[in-house]
Amino acid sequence: MPTTELTTDVALGVTVPSRGARGRIARLGPVIDAVLANHGYPPLIEKLLAEALTITALLGSLLKEREGQLTMQAQTRGGIVDLMVCDYLGGNLRGYVRFDREKLADASRNPALKELFGDGYLAITFDQPQAKERYQGIVPLEGKDLGDAAQSYFAQSEQIPSLVRLAEEKRDGHWHAGGLLLQHLPEGEEGRERLHTRLDHPEWEHVRVIGQTVRAGELADPSLKLETLLWRLFHEEDEVRLLSTVPLSKGCRCSPEHIRGVIGRFSPAEQAEMVDESGFISVDCEFCSRVFPIRLDDLRD
Ligand SMILES: [Zn+2]
Repeated sequence: MPTTELTTDVALGVTVPSRGARGRIARLGPVIDAVLANHGYPPLIEKLLAEALTITALLGSLLKEREGQLTMQAQTRGGIVDLMVCDYLGGNLRGYVRFDREKLADASRNPALKELFGDGYLAITFDQPQAKERYQGIVPLEGKDLGDAAQSYFAQSEQIPSLVRLAEEKRDGHWHAGGLLLQHLPEGEEGRERLHTRLDHPEWEHVRVIGQTVRAGELADPSLKLETLLWRLFHEEDEVRLLSTVPLSKGCRCSPEHIRGVIGRFSPAEQAEMVDESGFISVDCEFCSRVFPIRLDDLRD
């Protein structure tokens, strides 16, 4: 199936030149189920990670380089969640959450970020190796959902007025999620340095109002084509340009070869300290909730 026909596990970029706006829209389904498989997370944690993966897909699809990586990490203290990490590399998504089961048992039905993350910060890192660009911004985890935190990231770290809308639901045992990111880039997608960007710019206000009309059902509906949804939103604009679609899938860099390579970089003395009585070094991948037992003897061959 050509990627343009994909209605789920896909991200699509859009620009509206006359309004100085760009956008990304993403729909996720089986990719979320794949990331969550093996973890056995409680419903609230699954929902949180589904939301985080949707934002990761939106932000990751802003990267220009195929080898570019986007990492989102919640650093927290005193909340339900101790650590949350998600990343994006070439359309591959992965993520995991460490959390406190006792605190989770007392959680309210729809906890805001403060209850989930306590005194938490969200670190967002864009890494583009070819251009030797690495940029990290950190914002407090405040607001009703991670979309709020992403909006403040763009407002505070990049001075880009942005709108983030997210929707996720589990139906018949499967996750369906969608997200929309709209941004005001008066200098265009490639952009020169922004000398002044006003949050109340009339062109941006117009785009923001349109973006707010999108419904959760539309964002997460796996049968609605992203092009159709963008057409519903922007059909009155003079010109709307679509960028190429990016298929999304679950992807992790762990493999026995990779793990052997990592262990191989330790000195023999350090390796000897890691080995258990049966001659194995066990390395686990938290993203996949999988343990790789590596035989020390195999390493030496
Ligand atoms: Zn892995």
